[in-house]
Amino acid sequence: MKPVIEVLKGDLTKVQADAIVNAANSSLLGGGGVDGAIHRAGGKQILDECIEIRNRQGKCKTGEAVVTSAGNLPAKYVIHTVGPVWNNNEEKSSTLLANCYINSLKLAESLDVKTIAFPNISTGIYHFPKELAAKIAIQEVQKFNTEKIEKIIFVCFDEENETIYDKLLKEKQ
Ligand code: ADP
Repeated sequence: MKPVIEVLKGDLTKVQADAIVNAANSSLLGGGGVDGAIHRAGGKQILDECIEIRNRQGKCKTGEAVVTSAGNLPAKYVIHTVGPVWNNNEEKSSTLLANCYINSLKLAESLDVKTIAFPNISTGIYHFPKELAAKIAIQEVQKFNTEKIEKIIFVCFDEENETIYDKLLKEKQ
């Protein structure tokens, strides 16, 4: 089954989906950007669960993903994945960013998630080039074989990302 892919402009914390993905940092203790917005809107429950995960497994490595409940958010789960900081090593950074999407989707599949919403991971504070990040994101979700996930939403906070996603997805049709 191939999930439907949608592009939405707006705030990820407002999106109605079974799971939303957080562009977290490896500490799992919250930060700026979308991470800060998720913790602010979701409340203390999410941070408490992140702290439990840290106590159990230590930090979350780049490209990996962990899950918590979604506190006060409309979603059921928050999948926290750690994107790479862009450092001009295109090959390494691209593989790590691809892993964020793959590992988040695998985790979602294991949780019987039907709809999942992603932010544009690494394209904020971590400075990954937006067009390359979008190409990787789209390629990985289109490659992913799933029995359960029905819809994947790319939630773009800025117009530049929305334009890039719209353009790339149109080219693929
Ligand atoms: P990173 O550290 O992975 O770069 P950021 O949170 O700084 O994470 O940025 C990732 C993307 O999330 C950026 O494109 C940023 O514009 C976007 N973003 C920031 N706040 C929100 C939000 N509330 N909803 C959706 N996307 C957001």
